[in-house]
Amino acid sequence: MPGSAVSGLCFSSPLIFELGAKERSGASLPAPEVPDVDPAALFGEMARVEPAPLPEVSEPEAVRHYVRLSQQNFAIDTGMYPLGSCTMKYNPKVNEWAARLPGFAALHPLAPDDAIQGALELMWRLERGLAEVCGMDRVSLHPAAGAQGELTGLMMIRAYHAAQGRHPNKVLIPDTAHGTNPASCALNGFKAVPFPVGEKGVVVPEQLAPFVDDDVAAIMITNPNTVGLFETHIADLAAMVHDKGGLVYGDGANLNALMGYARPGDLGIDVMQFNLHKTFTTPHGGGGPGCGPVGYKAMLHPFAPVPVVEREDDGTLRLETDRPQTVGKLRSFVGNFGMMVRAYTYLREMGADGLKRATELAVLNANYLRVCLGERWHVAYDRTCMHEVVISDRHLKDAHVTTMDVAKRMMDYGFHPPTVYFPLVVKGAMLIEPTETETKETLDELVRTLETISEEARTDPELVKSAPHLTSLRRLDETLAARKPVLRWTPDGAAPRQG
Ligand SMILES: *Cc1c(COP(=O)(O)O)cnc(C)c1O
Repeated sequence: MPGSAVSGLCFSSPLIFELGAKERSGASLPAPEVPDVDPAALFGEMARVEPAPLPEVSEPEAVRHYVRLSQQNFAIDTGMYPLGSCTMKYNPKVNEWAARLPGFAALHPLAPDDAIQGALELMWRLERGLAEVCGMDRVSLHPAAGAQGELTGLMMIRAYHAAQGRHPNKVLIPDTAHGTNPASCALNGFKAVPFPVGEKGVVVPEQLAPFVDDDVAAIMITNPNTVGLFETHIADLAAMVHDKGGLVYGDGANLNALMGYARPGDLGIDVMQFNLHKTFTTPHGGGGPGCGPVGYKAMLHPFAPVPVVEREDDGTLRLETDRPQTVGKLRSFVGNFGMMVRAYTYLREMGADGLKRATELAVLNANYLRVCLGERWHVAYDRTCMHEVVISDRHLKDAHVTTMDVAKRMMDYGFHPPTVYFPLVVKGAMLIEPTETETKETLDELVRTLETISEEARTDPELVKSAPHLTSLRRLDETLAARKPVLRWTPDGAAPRQG
């Protein structure tokens, strides 16, 4: 039944519930060894009267269903994914091998410390490695995502001030920031105070100065920022905030542009998060499970979330939970250990020189795109960028073709669209981040594609405005899908039962 419509979402292949036939099965199970019992005798009125309406499908039908779904999806394993700020680099398969080693994968989360010394050693070494990369004293591997790392860092900042009897309330955030920054402030009870960036796309001290006072708990700053530019005044900005007793939070999501070349800790930053799924090749996964470690300077150590891995004098490692000033636990057990194994594998595969090389290539690739795309497209800040570059739909105005149309058309050419309409400071923005793992041939193909779309917009704008034409789904009502998602199948399309 192609094209069955479920409230705004169109599925071009049948749902698994629509496949199969009564009593078809893909399983052959041995005959039960226990006697048939009347369910009512066991469960009373809870007993099911009718069988559950489950799909009855053969094994090939089930396999084809899931493989078809996977083929309709876009992944870094199928094509280039230049989604700016998200650092969609290739995830090496050796990471998966390491994470599946039984000694790691089959550990019980409550095993006593003396039975998991190998796992603790990996956590310890990962912490030391990340601390070295970011120039911090310690790193907590506990948080489950970048955004949760932000929240953790801000909680530690709040606890740090409170321990000195201070209760500043404001966090200063430049208007290029990622939306999670103000959200993390609000979640932690801070007031997020936005301030404008200078004309050249970076924060200048004169523009920050009017906002810095005794009520500032921290400044939260992304470097390089979300327009792909290095914050050249970062050390001065940090000093201005430190002078008033505030701390400097560094959003580390863009660390892929700095690794091996500059360390946030050396630039005046006190606490930052890592996004292991961006910089350190763990899978992005649909919202988790992930890992967003937090690196911090020594004065914040008393407030770190628990457990903390500590080494005894005799060399053994233990998980310390009894810490009076801790901000507490942010997730279960030690965090997402499988992600730690993958990130550690990547660190060891790359080594110090490899991480430097990754940074060089990420920055080189972005600048190659900036120059090549700049021949046709409006480049928002046309000077040497870091790991990502912003172009806009400015030159397509007369054709009434927009950034969204271009993004949709790119899918017909086999590319995942870039990040669109972000950063907010550039009208009609497309934020393109190639990462270090794409070849020159692929970058050239992307440039050719964007040149072709630019040409199409001039000669046949309808073709672009009605794209995508070749994907299994066309344009969705994205607002409806986000606001009123229909997540449950019902036999006749009736509204699903709540609860
Ligand atoms: C991705 C990103 C975040 C949020 O990180 P998640 O791991 O997705 O929660 C925060 N800031 C910036 C600049 C980002 O790019």
